[in-house]
Amino acid sequence: MENAPGLADVIRFVAAPATARTVALTFDDGPNPPDTVELLDLLAREQVPAVFCLVGVQVAAHPDLVRRIVDDGHVLANHSWRHDDLAQLSPDAVRADLQRTLDAIHAVVPDAPVPFFRAPFGHYGQAIVVAAELGMRTLDWQLAVEDWDPAPPADVLVERLGGIEPGGVVLLHDGGGDRSATVEAVRRVIPRLRADGWTFTVPRLDG
Ligand SMILES: [Zn+2]
Repeated sequence: MENAPGLADVIRFVAAPATARTVALTFDDGPNPPDTVELLDLLAREQVPAVFCLVGVQVAAHPDLVRRIVDDGHVLANHSWRHDDLAQLSPDAVRADLQRTLDAIHAVVPDAPVPFFRAPFGHYGQAIVVAAELGMRTLDWQLAVEDWDPAPPADVLVERLGGIEPGGVVLLHDGGGDRSATVEAVRRVIPRLRADGWTFTVPRLDG
């Protein structure tokens, strides 16, 4: 990228024909047992790939789950060390935060790529530029079902997931609280989407 990346460069849709019923599920704030474990079991059963946007302190607390996420073939994103609002920090502080998180991930899974950055709260400041300098592209979203606290029941989340657009990146959470409703909603929605002709994918760096 010749010029400094900005908001125009964040990923909200995967690279696919605009009409393709393709969707990318992303899960933030983990790893977080037991919800992440149940989610991984579900995604493995359904053979659905996803992006896991990891928080550094959670990585340090649950390295075995990070290994499983990678072993199961999912894609990693850096979601900061402890979910601070990076827009409030200087570029150097953002760099230190994201590098610390990368180091924690690579201490567990040295060979796993971390192609994406997801901003806590979707607040960017200088973080898009700093993430790019560290080799990560910023992953935004087309649809947020607002499964954070107070977490709505699964049937509400299922209804909101009806807002997925072709190629859309969907923001969900496996951490930050009790995410059993999210896992249940994903469990219900995968077969429905498949029946309607949707396929599941993950974003690419050039997407
Ligand atoms: Zn988050």
